[in-house]
Amino acid sequence: MEETSGTAQEKTGKKQVIAFKKAIIAAGSQAVRLPFMPEDPRVVDSTGALALKEVPKRMLILGGGIIGLEMGTVYSTLGARLDVVEMLDGLMQGADRDLVKIWQKMNAKRFDNIMLKTKTVGAKATPEGIEVTFAAAEEGGTAPPPQTYDLVLQAVGRTPNGKKIAADKAGVAVTDRGFINVDIQMRTNVSHIFAIGDIVGQPMLAHKAVHEAHVAAEVIAGELQGNKELASAAFNARVIPSVAYTDPEVAWVGLTEDQAKAQGIKVKKGLFPWNASGRAIANGRDEGVTKLLFDDSPEAHGHGKILGGGMVGTHAGDMIGEIALAIEMGADAVDIGKTIHPHPTLGESIGMAAEIAHGSCTDVPPARK
Ligand SMILES: Cc1cc2nc3c(=O)[nH]c(=O)nc-3n(C[C@H](O)[C@H](O)[C@H](O)COP(=O)(O)OP(=O)(O)OC[C@H]3O[C@@H](n4cnc5c(N)ncnc54)[C@H](O)[C@@H]3O)c2cc1C
Repeated sequence: MEETSGTAQEKTGKKQVIAFKKAIIAAGSQAVRLPFMPEDPRVVDSTGALALKEVPKRMLILGGGIIGLEMGTVYSTLGARLDVVEMLDGLMQGADRDLVKIWQKMNAKRFDNIMLKTKTVGAKATPEGIEVTFAAAEEGGTAPPPQTYDLVLQAVGRTPNGKKIAADKAGVAVTDRGFINVDIQMRTNVSHIFAIGDIVGQPMLAHKAVHEAHVAAEVIAGELQGNKELASAAFNARVIPSVAYTDPEVAWVGLTEDQAKAQGIKVKKGLFPWNASGRAIANGRDEGVTKLLFDDSPEAHGHGKILGGGMVGTHAGDMIGEIALAIEMGADAVDIGKTIHPHPTLGESIGMAAEIAHGSCTDVPPARK
């Protein structure tokens, strides 16, 4: 078996054979390493970045996704100046651009350079630092000049460990990319072997992994105990929330407004600005917004269910679960708006966003027609 990296592994050097009736594969994923990056302590992935030794003066975040930006927030709070390089045309892909714009405005002071539509194409270890070269990601684009950094964080994605655990020797099918396909009971193509977490697919998130693990454990317990109800457990969640634990936090779940536009899905939007929230004002952090999207198709007859929602602001990650619950329960704007939210809380913004979509909010002026 090929060894994978990670701190939780016991390496006894002894070969042990363990028999099992049922097994759950949960071997996770690893950070992608760019082949041209030098082996150097000044080049780290997120695991290396968590083992902070000293605060760099200049740090490059390679990849403008959630993990890179979260780590960058920590390092810049400690004093590092940040550059970020991202191949695509925006940071924090997946979240609606209007939410990211608010995060970006609040965080502009952390960055010297935000290099979008830019690829990293080479890197060299020098006594002064890691010298990184860039190229335009699109034809005709311009590339920034090479830069030297005290620390480079590689955060360009994660790859599943499927090919590293010799799963195929047990007959478990592994895709070319290293994922293990499972059904809604988390069962692989081998009926007594289950798999959960990063190794079975996106999104690579802890709460998704745990939910899947519960399903697999229930199915297995049900089968071993002859309990039909447990044995019929399945992954039926409609949505999986995402949170960037940045400052402010950005959180979203279900359909995003950008997806709705791209897919031609008609939605009614309720957008509540936090500068109308007593709690956000009292906190001195009223830059946030809460956005809810409701089905506005003709079939919904003006009473469409909630399809998605997003927030940017302090504690957004603590509140996104309410929107996930509303989606799971098929709530509409009246259900959410007429649910009494305590005052003064940031959570009120969810009720008020629903009232705005419904046209009954008394806390902000009605939208101009
Ligand atoms: C920096 C960072 C921040 C994150 N922040 C968040 C967050 O805020 N919220 C969130 O929801 N998710 C977050 N995630 C993602 C989250 O950590 C993963 O989705 C989750 O841990 C996946 O669980 P898992 O069980 O699939 O894999 P893991 O938790 O990675 O567990 C896999 C384990 O298997 C071990 N292993 C691998 N190969 C072998 C082998 N051959 N033999 C024995 N053991 C092996 C590994 O060492 C590891 O301990 C973050 C990830 C990173 C890298």
